[in-house]
Amino acid sequence: MEKIKNFINGQYHDPISKEWLDNYCPATGAIYGSIPNSSKADVENAYIAAQSAFPNWSTTSLEERSRLLIKISELIEVNLERLSEAESKDNGKPVNLARRIDIPRAASNFRFFGNAITQFSSESHESIGHDAINYTLRQPLGVVGCISPWNLPLYLFTWKIVPALAAGNCVIAKPSEITPMTAYLLGDICNEAGLPPGVLNVVHGLGTTTGQAIIEHPDIKAISFTGGTKTGAHIAKVAAPMFKKLSLELGGKNPNIIFGDCDYETMLDTTLRSSFSNQGQICLCGSRIFVEASIYDRFKADFVTKVKHLRVGHPSQEDSDIGALVSEAHLEKVMGYIKMAAKENGKILCGGHRVTVKDYEKGYYLEPTVIEISSNDCTINQEEVFGPVVTIMPFNSEDEVVRMANSVKYGLSATLWTNDLKRTMRMSHQLEAGIVWVNTWMMRDLRTPFGGTKSSGVGREGGFEALRFFTEPKNVCIKY
Ligand code: NAD
Repeated sequence: MEKIKNFINGQYHDPISKEWLDNYCPATGAIYGSIPNSSKADVENAYIAAQSAFPNWSTTSLEERSRLLIKISELIEVNLERLSEAESKDNGKPVNLARRIDIPRAASNFRFFGNAITQFSSESHESIGHDAINYTLRQPLGVVGCISPWNLPLYLFTWKIVPALAAGNCVIAKPSEITPMTAYLLGDICNEAGLPPGVLNVVHGLGTTTGQAIIEHPDIKAISFTGGTKTGAHIAKVAAPMFKKLSLELGGKNPNIIFGDCDYETMLDTTLRSSFSNQGQICLCGSRIFVEASIYDRFKADFVTKVKHLRVGHPSQEDSDIGALVSEAHLEKVMGYIKMAAKENGKILCGGHRVTVKDYEKGYYLEPTVIEISSNDCTINQEEVFGPVVTIMPFNSEDEVVRMANSVKYGLSATLWTNDLKRTMRMSHQLEAGIVWVNTWMMRDLRTPFGGTKSSGVGREGGFEALRFFTEPKNVCIKY
């Protein structure tokens, strides 16, 4: 049994309350470890460590901060195999996905922000005619809180903590209680790299216990949160009276819009990925597929054939396309949506059932599922399912598909398949989303702003946007 501990002031600690939670392996359904359910007292200890580390860290030179972050990036790469296996075991994702995407991206996050901080500059404005000059300081906020979800555990955990650290803040971070393992392993890596104690503190536990203690802490200056829309709304409510700075990256219900003039084979392969990568548990997955009527029947036949060929299997097997969903409760929730879609006249074209994988009968496996629907208003097209389930429906005109794409409360990403430049330009303006991909999906350049509109969030991460979030601009006006 693996016992995870809190990482506070550079050392591993049991929770003060001695309260532990079970950690499940989604592939087998078995408990394989325990994690602390940290209380306010643990968060307070983390705060004291972070607050004590802040004066030195915030005045450490940019070159030295950069060097340390890049060193951590290198050590993540050295530990690629170990971290990939840990991520796969904890989350249920295929190990080959963790090895190709999750862990390399965590290393990239450290390298990218380690470099970006040395390029981050502030502005100056000369007030001509008034003999004055204004310049803007970009000061770190102090101690900040970072809270992340279970779907891309180390990838998103580091996407939050690294810009905070690069900008000179000290961090109290909480990974999801469902996938705590790689954030736990990161503590040793930070120590090996020489990150000073207290600069990064990782506390584990339930959102309602540990997460709540972080967001309620009066001296934690900002919360960077990625997770569900409901949790985001709760955090906003708790944080508002304390005027905490907030970055909220929330749920999505993204349209994948396919026109007849697209590059068909590329679209088909990418649509398979954008539908089912990570068991469909990516906030950016295109779960509502709208297909121009002229190619609808062809697409439906080809897509369903490809989906039927996807292999559901144990995540440690290299040929598994689809691993296990993250938890029993989540599996039941996703299956509930499939049943509801069928009740609302959705036609299940393939999938829809739990899969029994030999030797791992208690694992949380589900067939990749395609549902044909006739109205965008049905529940499955309005609510985030966050599983290997997509809907398809035809459309007849650009206006009609834009209306349907925008007729949801979410606005995270949209994907558009067309070779018509004018249409691309028009629709990129019209689609209500923080990110529009045209003829591709999930191509990420870490310099670009990332985030959602409407109920998909507030604020942007990525590049200098993240460094701006984690710093306070202060204007200094000097009359000479
Ligand atoms: P969740 O909201 O249940 O939990 C996210 C994190 O918040 C966890 O660490 C959890 O412990 C914590 N939390 C829960 N209640 C809390 C509280 N009261 N106070 C403080 N923290 C609390 O989300 P989840 O189920 O872990 O993740 C799935 C969701 O995340 C989906 O909606 C998905 O779309 C979203 N997501 C969004 C993005 C994005 O970039 N927009 C990326 C990945 C996932």
